[in-house]
Amino acid sequence: MSDRRTQLAANLAKVEDRIAAACAAAGRAREEVTLIVVTKTYPASDVRLLAELGVRHVAENRDQDAAPKAAACSDLPLTWHFVGQLQTNKVRSVLGYASLVQSVDRARLVMALSREAVRTGREVGCLLQVALDAGESGRGERGGVGPDGVGELAALVEEAPGLRLDGLMTVAPLTGEYAGRQQAAFERLMDLSTVLRKTHPAANMVSAGMSTDLEEAVAAGATHVRVGTAVLGVRPGLG
Ligand SMILES: *Cc1c(COP(=O)(O)O)cnc(C)c1O
Repeated sequence: MSDRRTQLAANLAKVEDRIAAACAAAGRAREEVTLIVVTKTYPASDVRLLAELGVRHVAENRDQDAAPKAAACSDLPLTWHFVGQLQTNKVRSVLGYASLVQSVDRARLVMALSREAVRTGREVGCLLQVALDAGESGRGERGGVGPDGVGELAALVEEAPGLRLDGLMTVAPLTGEYAGRQQAAFERLMDLSTVLRKTHPAANMVSAGMSTDLEEAVAAGATHVRVGTAVLGVRPGLG
């Protein structure tokens, strides 16, 4: 095995142990939680190694970085998730590889995704990104719709041709009432999911938790954790 492969295998094993322990502590079955590896800033060669090591879900947050990487990995049995702030002019490129967009946060984006899904005859999974630190504008600083806007946006996705409403996603806020209170934030997301599922029972994905707080997310009931650093290493610079 190459050094990198050995390193990724060891990191994956550690993350797997953490998820399994968190599931056990929460009285949940391990199968209830899906690991999505966030490969942003890392090369296609790493994605290939991860696929060989059994990873099936990967996520990216910038189209410029993701599009060539996904193209280089198109032979692999991977599901690509898009988790970054998405401008409507990038929708066509992103839907060229991503089957799920976890950062749906406004009506204009829903319309653009729907148009492109219909044009290409595909069904696109959508998670609404919830900003638990949304200010008066009803939007988060790093994207996301405020809790009050979830119902309306969900209805829009549900009605949009080519789109499938899959659930909710959040990133633990760095500011506001939930700063430093990841578990409370994820429990709030779970409450919003419970409300959402009353009218949209199939929208049962709850995407929460990253390298530092996946345990809190699993404890709160997350179905998907998005882990980058703990698998691939600390990213150089911003990412
Ligand atoms: C980068 C990123 C992650 C992974 O974060 P790590 O701390 O590296 O695990 C998860 N979700 C989103 C939306 C991200 O941008």
